[in-house]
Amino acid sequence: MTAEPDHLEQMLTRLKLTAIRDQLDGLLDEAARRELTLRETVGLLCEREIARKDERRIEMALSIAKFPFVRDLAGFDFAAQPSLDPKQIRELATGRFIANGEAVLPLGPPGVGKSHLAVAIGREAILAGYTVLFIQATTLVATLAKAHADGRIDDKLAQLAKPKLLIVDELGYLPFEPNAAHLFFQLVARRYERNSLLITSNRAIGEWGTVFGDPVVATAILDRLLHHSHVVTIRGDSYRLREKRRAGLLKAAPLQPRAPAESG
Ligand code: ADP
Ligand code: MG
Repeated sequence: MTAEPDHLEQMLTRLKLTAIRDQLDGLLDEAARRELTLRETVGLLCEREIARKDERRIEMALSIAKFPFVRDLAGFDFAAQPSLDPKQIRELATGRFIANGEAVLPLGPPGVGKSHLAVAIGREAILAGYTVLFIQATTLVATLAKAHADGRIDDKLAQLAKPKLLIVDELGYLPFEPNAAHLFFQLVARRYERNSLLITSNRAIGEWGTVFGDPVVATAILDRLLHHSHVVTIRGDSYRLREKRRAGLLKAAPLQPRAPAESG
């Protein structure tokens, strides 16, 4: 049975095969040019449709994740960060820790690449098909406190428990209110062993009691976080300051051969 062009377009629309619909003539030309069999042609059409759907899903998931900036693993200079094991980071980037409901805790002083790695790992997780949400610790705490005050805490906790990976950035820059620590504990308990947390902090684990402002709640939180966890300790100087110093050095040494202009 042959279909009228309009009818065919309508059917493809109804089946949500929009890539095939929009590129049909081109795809059929390509199939003819490559002398594909009917079976191979169907394969080609499916391939393009899947590619378009994957692209859309990734675009959508990246916007839902609310990353504060674009960073990826390829842009991370491991040579500049010898305290990190590239193998460990690449393993984390596979997302296996998410499948296992484990936690990842990148810890270290400011500027050493914690947020960069958090975004890069989150991005890889999305490519692997996981849902991700990125949130600053201070925003998270304010959101929980507000929901609590408005009597919507259960809904809020349910919403924040959903993403397969929740990235909480910059824990420890501000200490928590005692009530906030308790709300944070509830979130950790909800996600425990089901969905993963990635928490970056400039404080060593031993100082988290101070961060949460309550040693009992801190212990309860750490108990769950550390049970199945990957602690990634990063040492060294701020990458940003190091870059600045390097640029400064170049300027301060006019007798040296001119270096190529630095990009970025
Ligand atoms: P932190 O979260 O630990 O304070 P960031 O991840 O925000 O640090 O890093 C500060 C800046 O330096 C960012 O722009 C980040 O992309 C960059 N950066 C840090 N470490 C590296 C690295 N090893 N390779 C490439 N860029 C880096
Ligand atoms: Mg950061």
